[in-house]
Amino acid sequence: MNTETIKLIQRKVGVTADGIIGEKTLAAICKALDISQPVCTQWPTQAEVRSGKSMFGHVGCEENLVNIVPPYPLYYDGTKVKTIRVHKLIADAVSQALQEVLDHYGLESIHRLGLDQYSGSYNYRKTTSGSSYSMHAWGIALDFAAEKNAYSTHKPHASLSIAECEKWWEIWEAHGAVSLGRERDVDWMHLQFARL
Ligand SMILES: [Zn+2]
Repeated sequence: MNTETIKLIQRKVGVTADGIIGEKTLAAICKALDISQPVCTQWPTQAEVRSGKSMFGHVGCEENLVNIVPPYPLYYDGTKVKTIRVHKLIADAVSQALQEVLDHYGLESIHRLGLDQYSGSYNYRKTTSGSSYSMHAWGIALDFAAEKNAYSTHKPHASLSIAECEKWWEIWEAHGAVSLGRERDVDWMHLQFARL
């Protein structure tokens, strides 16, 4: 579907005609057709996200962000965080994944494995190499336990690469998230809701 067609549909259903199928457009289309809203498990690729034309919209658009209350306590630099800020379209997936982590591991193991060490999500910045915007700049990437999972810390030295953390990754992957550690053995702290 091209942008003009999307805009035409958006005008018909009465939402902002920006040519991007976001949450509102999708909901309005489903309502107009009297069908239930599909659950998105196939996230766009990084290239699609960077084009600014994916479901996640433009880079650094803070209107797309929401604050979610994590289902178990998360700590940033040792301080408990009240909420974490992510793109509204991944908010449900993040909440559900963290709830499943809590159900599977329990608080004690979560703490021992560092799964409560939150190292940031939304951040309007470029990648470490500086060539393009990071998925963090759309609020669709999260980092955990950064201290023991630096970019160039590989398996088995990265704390999140150990066997006991396998379920942690399986939970995120079931929600369509991608681990750079699991895919490329780099940046084990990082997960993102965009395909490589
Ligand atoms: Zn990251």
